[in-house]
Amino acid sequence: MDSVITIPALGDNLMYLVRCGRNDSFVVDPSDASLVSMILKKQGLSLKAILLTHHHWDHTAGASELKRRTGCEVIAGDGGRSRDVDKAVENGQILTMGNAKIQVLATPGHTRASVCYYMQPSNDGRGGFLWTGDTLFVGGCGRIFECDPGTMWESLLKLASLPDDALVYCGHDYTLENYEFALSIEPDNEVVKRRLDEVKQAQRRGEQTVPSNISQEKATNPFLRAGAPELKAALGMADAPAVEVFAELRRRKDVF
Ligand SMILES: [Zn+2]
Repeated sequence: MDSVITIPALGDNLMYLVRCGRNDSFVVDPSDASLVSMILKKQGLSLKAILLTHHHWDHTAGASELKRRTGCEVIAGDGGRSRDVDKAVENGQILTMGNAKIQVLATPGHTRASVCYYMQPSNDGRGGFLWTGDTLFVGGCGRIFECDPGTMWESLLKLASLPDDALVYCGHDYTLENYEFALSIEPDNEVVKRRLDEVKQAQRRGEQTVPSNISQEKATNPFLRAGAPELKAALGMADAPAVEVFAELRRRKDVF
């Protein structure tokens, strides 16, 4: 069995159930307790923890109920604002979940307390896996609600510095729209054109477009490419610092 089970919920949200031992598991951003419970039962898994990337209801709505049903621990970034949170975590902290080691990465921007979780590669060849919530999407990034663009940019750079092969599991499937936006900025970018084609084909076959990996995001995600000369030129901002290019991209995406 694959160690990560992707569970679509609420239309375009993605929840992730992760096996971290023979019968143990944790879940990332459970918005639907019934759906998670059903899959736990089907897979014969016991739930040890809920990892929340941020406090928005579409990432947390199932946490109370799951905690009540299973007695699991609820983990979130410091200041995560949910009364269900048992453990507030900080940047750099390592969580041990069964046989998995998970590093907490503070990534403020979408919300002040947003965190991402990086499951480090293990001896049995698993990992690294990165859960990004609404900070980094395949081909895009989250809206900036509680911080300034510079803060979000620093958070994205932190994620981009992870190993190239780390798989990116984000909180929503916005992949198609994100690549359409990328192509609206750089209509002649062949790599992005190819990616958009691949995504359309995958969706026609009913396949998921998540996960991606860090290497692919660095090559095709316009928000991670804000420092690239071609992208700066496409925006008419050849001499601007990357953070200003990033802020302009985010402004344009907000009204795309
Ligand atoms: Zn959110």
